[in-house]
Amino acid sequence: MKSTTFVLALFIFVSGCASGSSSNSTPTAEDAKKFMDEVNQTAFDLALETGQAGWISQTHITDDSSALYARANQRLIDKIAHYAKEAVRFDKVDVAPELRRGLDILKVSLVMATPSNPKEGEELTKIAANLDATYGKGKWCEDPKKPESCLDINQITDIMRESRDEKKLRQVWEGWHTISPQMREEYTRFVELSNKGAGELGFTDTGAMWRSKYDMPADEFTKELDRLWEQVRPLYVKLHAYIRMKLRQQYGDVVPEKGPMPAHLLGNIWAQDWSNVYPIARPANADPGFSLNDILKNRKISPQDMVKTGERFYTSIGFAPMPQTFWERSMFTKPRDREVVCHASAWDVDNIEDLRIKMCIQPTDEDFRTIHHELGHNFYQRAYKDLPFIFRDSANDGFHEAIGDTIALSVTPEYLVRIGLLDKAPDATRDIGLLLDRALEKIAFLPFGLLIDQWRWKVFSGEVKPENYNKAWWDLRLKYQGVAPVAPRGNEFFDPGAKYHVPGNVPYTRYFLAAILQFQFHRALSEAAGCKTALHRCSIYESADAGKKLSNMLAMGMSQPWPDALEKIAGTKQMDATAILDYFKPLDAWLDEQIKGKPVGW
Ligand SMILES: [Zn+2]
Repeated sequence: MKSTTFVLALFIFVSGCASGSSSNSTPTAEDAKKFMDEVNQTAFDLALETGQAGWISQTHITDDSSALYARANQRLIDKIAHYAKEAVRFDKVDVAPELRRGLDILKVSLVMATPSNPKEGEELTKIAANLDATYGKGKWCEDPKKPESCLDINQITDIMRESRDEKKLRQVWEGWHTISPQMREEYTRFVELSNKGAGELGFTDTGAMWRSKYDMPADEFTKELDRLWEQVRPLYVKLHAYIRMKLRQQYGDVVPEKGPMPAHLLGNIWAQDWSNVYPIARPANADPGFSLNDILKNRKISPQDMVKTGERFYTSIGFAPMPQTFWERSMFTKPRDREVVCHASAWDVDNIEDLRIKMCIQPTDEDFRTIHHELGHNFYQRAYKDLPFIFRDSANDGFHEAIGDTIALSVTPEYLVRIGLLDKAPDATRDIGLLLDRALEKIAFLPFGLLIDQWRWKVFSGEVKPENYNKAWWDLRLKYQGVAPVAPRGNEFFDPGAKYHVPGNVPYTRYFLAAILQFQFHRALSEAAGCKTALHRCSIYESADAGKKLSNMLAMGMSQPWPDALEKIAGTKQMDATAILDYFKPLDAWLDEQIKGKPVGW
């Protein structure tokens, strides 16, 4: 039945197609080339409109700006969906490898495929924009009659970071999760309609469509993820055991000795980054002795200067500075007069060099690193701007997320000294403190990075039904993260919706891949930079050699399969999590000491 729908849709489109060739004649390589030229030009034009409308819809949230964005986005998606279907016509045509790759990418390029039925297509696009806006406007009000008691995600984030009051943390955690039950019905419909669209493109469901983008069969890709997770899981389990022990010392019996950790005590609303519990877990004699949070706050550094500092890293390894428009058009701070989506993102509005970042920057270590992350997107975007439009993307989506983080790994104490933020770098006896701090961000994230799409793939495939959405969510959080809620979370809740990427419909596996790749990149670039110290003390700041290697890879965009791009930097075509183990080696041994004779696992 699927293939009938597919052929029918194809026929309807081809018969109404303006690009010339009749559906009766056999298409030629020339036709394929013409077709691809049209795709590149049309997508480029429509992407500009979508980019502009999208920017406004996130920086001035109103019903109108959401509607305008939804409309522009629908035009783009419809067009790409039509082109993706038409691309099948050239499956058997003998074309040049570059053109073949372009056609293949086109067929799997959508994150969300709208059904060809215009009413359903419009409904889906509207739902997608609504879900995004519901999240953006999300607030929890302790007293709904008092607007001043309402907290947005930024304020929630602050409390999760700073408070050590278990009751308060629990109240805020539960409060934030009240923004999402209202999304559940819309999300259910979203799944139905987006699956229908994916079906018309020949995929069994939206999750299968997402998995098909990795230059290998979907099953093989899933196995790759398992392999990488197995490489790092032992280290995660040790970290989990240590932190659980420390939280128990801090909070008492609310933290079990053996079971999963409570989701609200890890310093982050999603327990995806545990950096903020570092003060509870810091090693007695190996604390690095400085806090970037304090330095940034004490110096009263402005958001603009934080971004300038980030930019300077990239220029130090040979990249050209950001264009003037970047400074004029970016959003660095939260406006006081309107609703915005504060969730940090990087934009390339015209797909040439209208680069921007959108953040509500605060003077914290976390935001300082996020700036490096977002700038990584911008420098990548500009590096591939001269390729045909279809190739203006990263080798795979994990690469895009990995680049800025790779640079952030070079934000070492020695680097902070070189740019004048720190007087003196701590000696090697303090390494455990530095590494634990880093592990609380990077290692803690890995299972979370994996499970979001594990959940969505099951939801899209129908393995998890709407009545089990929330249960399946917590099953996976238990299985991978070893984290659980303190009170039952029945299906009257929709806790996945309290994480931006679910209502925002942003695939998440990319962040897991990025978490692995960034260490592999860091190891390889540090070698190129001639770094002789332990891997975690290497910074590629001011290394032209490392910069050259990096920029060569970035400029490839998506024009080659990702293993080839990986090889450009890492000298191998295979992803490898052993760089993580290298980086954290001293910490791994130290954790063994700390948890000796203590319960491990959950
Ligand atoms: Zn990113």
